[in-house]
Amino acid sequence: MRYLLLSDVHSNLEALYTCLELAAGRYDKAVCLGDLVGYGPNPNEVVEKIRNLCKVVIRGNHDKACCGIDDAKDFNPYARMATEWTRQTLTPAHVEYLRALPMGPAVMDGFIFVHGSPQDEDAYILGPAQALPLLRGPETQLVCFGHSHLQGGFMTTDTGRFQSIRIPATPDGLTLKIMLEDSCRYLINPGSVGQPRDHDWRAGFAILDTDSKEVEYYRTPYDVAKTQQKMEKAMLPVPLYRRLELGR
Ligand code: ZN
Repeated sequence: MRYLLLSDVHSNLEALYTCLELAAGRYDKAVCLGDLVGYGPNPNEVVEKIRNLCKVVIRGNHDKACCGIDDAKDFNPYARMATEWTRQTLTPAHVEYLRALPMGPAVMDGFIFVHGSPQDEDAYILGPAQALPLLRGPETQLVCFGHSHLQGGFMTTDTGRFQSIRIPATPDGLTLKIMLEDSCRYLINPGSVGQPRDHDWRAGFAILDTDSKEVEYYRTPYDVAKTQQKMEKAMLPVPLYRRLELGR
């Protein structure tokens, strides 16, 4: 089975469509690791697309805030403004859809899929402090996670050594392929489709092949100017659309 891993789309339709064009024909089943909405200008269109495309969708913290499950109290002021705008823009049917999204983890083929972390859907896995207990815990050989918007992830080798999985800055398209070794353990972050924060503005996603035991990381340029124009027109906060071209 080849799983298309999409995460943190954040209402960015241009980035989503560009990723789907590149991924076309390369996967069997699509999975979304949460944060369909928040920040970007096309929440309804993104929800519609993800809902039709993905067999499994887990909720993210922005999904919870934008449908009223959470109050966005811990968000920064810009994120709160975008949350408020998204709440007012979403159709009632899409609010209902987001409200009904399950909390992670989802388990498929023995692998775990989460938004933040297996124990806490809102927790960030940013480095060894959070990653090592998970890699050394009893959970599973491989966990797919999002939330940090940093493509790559972490692993332990057959000798138990900790490593970050680093994504090269080039080329566009397939940027890195890793083979999953039975003796190693992995935390895989497919990257953010709609708001990357790893200093690379290109949209990110990954494909997990459970038969050949490989993960492929992809990065693709998209029409970021178009997304920014829509955000400007919607009067979303300026820093939220400037950051898209910087990838942070
Ligand atoms: Zn996010």
